[in-house]
Amino acid sequence: MQRLVIRNGLLIDTEPEPVVRPGHDILVVDGRIAAVGPDLPAAGATVLDATDRIVLPGFVDTHRHTWQTALRGIAADADLGEYLDLVLGRIAPRYRPSDVYTGTLVGALEALASGITTLQDFSHVQYSAGHADAAVSALRASGIRAVFAYGAPVFGPGPDQYEIRRVFREHFAGSAGLVTMALAPSGPSYSPMAAVRRDWAVATALGLRMYVHIGSGPVATRPIGELRGSGLLDANITFVHGNSLPDGELALIAEAGAAVSIAPAVEATMGHGAPMVGRLRGHGITTGLGVDVVTTVAGDMFSLMRATLLTGRFGDGPRPTAADVLRLATVDGAAALGLADQVGSLRVGKQADLVLLRTTDLNLLGGLADPVGAVVTAAHPGNIDTVLVAGRPVGIAGPADLAEAIASSAAHVTDGTVPVCGTHFRPGLIRP
Ligand SMILES: [Zn+2]
Repeated sequence: MQRLVIRNGLLIDTEPEPVVRPGHDILVVDGRIAAVGPDLPAAGATVLDATDRIVLPGFVDTHRHTWQTALRGIAADADLGEYLDLVLGRIAPRYRPSDVYTGTLVGALEALASGITTLQDFSHVQYSAGHADAAVSALRASGIRAVFAYGAPVFGPGPDQYEIRRVFREHFAGSAGLVTMALAPSGPSYSPMAAVRRDWAVATALGLRMYVHIGSGPVATRPIGELRGSGLLDANITFVHGNSLPDGELALIAEAGAAVSIAPAVEATMGHGAPMVGRLRGHGITTGLGVDVVTTVAGDMFSLMRATLLTGRFGDGPRPTAADVLRLATVDGAAALGLADQVGSLRVGKQADLVLLRTTDLNLLGGLADPVGAVVTAAHPGNIDTVLVAGRPVGIAGPADLAEAIASSAAHVTDGTVPVCGTHFRPGLIRP
């Protein structure tokens, strides 16, 4: 039996509401939280001193296209249409399995280093069996807890039913490791209902949760109603975005018990529509936060929490507080992935996925009066001292050879013609 005591931390639990507990310990037994309280007995346990540390549940990123890590910042000025054309239309088809591996590995390590311990990887770059194998291998190599959602390229024929079954059989059947499988079908905004029915059937047959992009604008004005009318709307779906959905559609999501993943930074930058965090809250819909794409926004949860807090006041519905935002980044995100009983808070019995932040760093000094407010408004990945997944510390400094691997991948997938760093993307530099 592996026992670990995290000693004398400033705990922030998130369930049922964010609460601060100074001078508390956490006992971890075999990777799970076994007790929380002051002065826990430590006989036979390894002790991790958390004096001058905030101890939080690990963050949950509910939507990221992790394969795009080599394209960081190249679509900083792009709207949604320009992003789709450049990244999914022109660059994605150049991806080889090795590019998927490198991008996914570095993206997952980046997430871990910023305190994200659970990642929903919406991997819609499956051009071949090798691509899928590479993505799964990279997630497993990183040490992160991940939901790998198999997705076909947006500009392509849609997912191959036999390939989905092969990936499930070869990588996920019978295993209950840190990486689990889901499906990322094109859904009613981007594919005909006949294809939607086929995709839903395979997900149901394999018991996979579904992650589904909802288009903004006139793609389909009633995609949720379409699903409901076909008997395909249930609690096993996490929709992504949907800023332009009318209230009637949100009411159907709420009634079905489905969840929504929002990407407030990307949605504001790319022009998806008004921030929807308040509307979702008003409808009582389970909601999580997603980085979405590092082509356009930062890949850490602190930036994303800030974007949520700042943009949240400009949408309809109740304005989110700092405590609301911390919940969205942790326990609500876990619920949006169907993992509420596993991660997202410090409740006894949950996985010991934890983040320790130094309160002695300059940007957190003076933050002890309201640690929740300080974490949401002021903390950044540089404050992270330790990250634990299932009670085990994970490396938060990537191996040096990854820099070379990702630079070479970036040069290949952009054909060496797009400036990759420190400048703006210029349309037309990539050969079709
Ligand atoms: Zn997305």
